[in-house]
Amino acid sequence: MTEEGFLKAKELFERYFAKEEEKAVPLPKFAPAAKKRWEQVPEWARKEIVEAVWCSQCRIGVPLLLREGEMIGRSLVLRGTCKKCGSEAARVIEPTDE
Ligand SMILES: [Zn+2]
Repeated sequence: MTEEGFLKAKELFERYFAKEEEKAVPLPKFAPAAKKRWEQVPEWARKEIVEAVWCSQCRIGVPLLLREGEMIGRSLVLRGTCKKCGSEAARVIEPTDE
């Protein structure tokens, strides 16, 4: 690899990670128990969950801007706003049988 190629790759790498960081801010607030439960969900499933939350305004599954999570009984409740229209949306994650 040439030095130029290396610098180019480094630049792309840094840009990519800077972008990832930007997306992660602001971090959603999770109660400790909710955080623990959420971390038990595989990463790919977490993405699927957050990318398709029912919005009562849009009447479709929409990406959720995740704001907070808490446990209600044994279910994890994720709250945030619809990325399309900005209205409140929530998603309940039922307990898994273990
Ligand atoms: Zn909406």
